[in-house]
Amino acid sequence: LFFVIDGIDGCGKTTQSQLVVSYLKSLGKKVILTKEPGGTEVGKVLRNILLSTEFDVTSETELLLYSADRLEHQKKVIEPNILDGNIIVCDRFISSTYAYQIFGRGLNINILKTLEKISVKWWPDITFIIDIKPEVALNRALERLKVAGKMEKEGKFEQSGLEFYKKVREGFLWYSKSFKNVIVIDGSKSIDDIFENIKQEIEAKL
Ligand code: C5P
Ligand code: MG
Repeated sequence: LFFVIDGIDGCGKTTQSQLVVSYLKSLGKKVILTKEPGGTEVGKVLRNILLSTEFDVTSETELLLYSADRLEHQKKVIEPNILDGNIIVCDRFISSTYAYQIFGRGLNINILKTLEKISVKWWPDITFIIDIKPEVALNRALERLKVAGKMEKEGKFEQSGLEFYKKVREGFLWYSKSFKNVIVIDGSKSIDDIFENIKQEIEAKL
């Protein structure tokens, strides 16, 4: 089984991914927690290029690098774990690329449709999109960067501003209507309530 938890920055993806993994482990399941970008050796290098303000890459290059990261991840992590019968919990997937690069950056969707054919062989059994208001997302993301002291080095996306975040959220909602097996979760609820929603859907697949 392959589960993805996605959504705009600050929506609580990472927290929920960890809760899901602990829960599945408590049931005695073999489960791996992974993420995009950065779920492989090469992916970590790509992630660094993508996130660092040191490098200024064009939006099209960004799209290619996310897709390269995904292809590596599919071949080196997703496929072998699915074949071994392990459960995969993945923080972000192609849903993020539609949201950020196509809706956010305004790139032509046909480019990603083509890259999708090359880079995605295995699709999630469920993609959870945790939906929150863009204002909340931006504030949480900026706060987190400040606390981590990474504003200078990694603030590239967060500093794109509210208009960008509104488009990204629109992208996630579009994705939920255009792709199969996507569930939108109300991210304004408490951590426990959100997890309860996710858990019910996962239990139904076990
Ligand atoms: O969730 P994570 O911390 O891994 O995301 C890293 C950064 O990359 C986030 O700031 C997010 O806005 C950005 N990102 C992006 N396009 C994607 C995926 C992530 O701009 N397709
Ligand atoms: Mg982030």
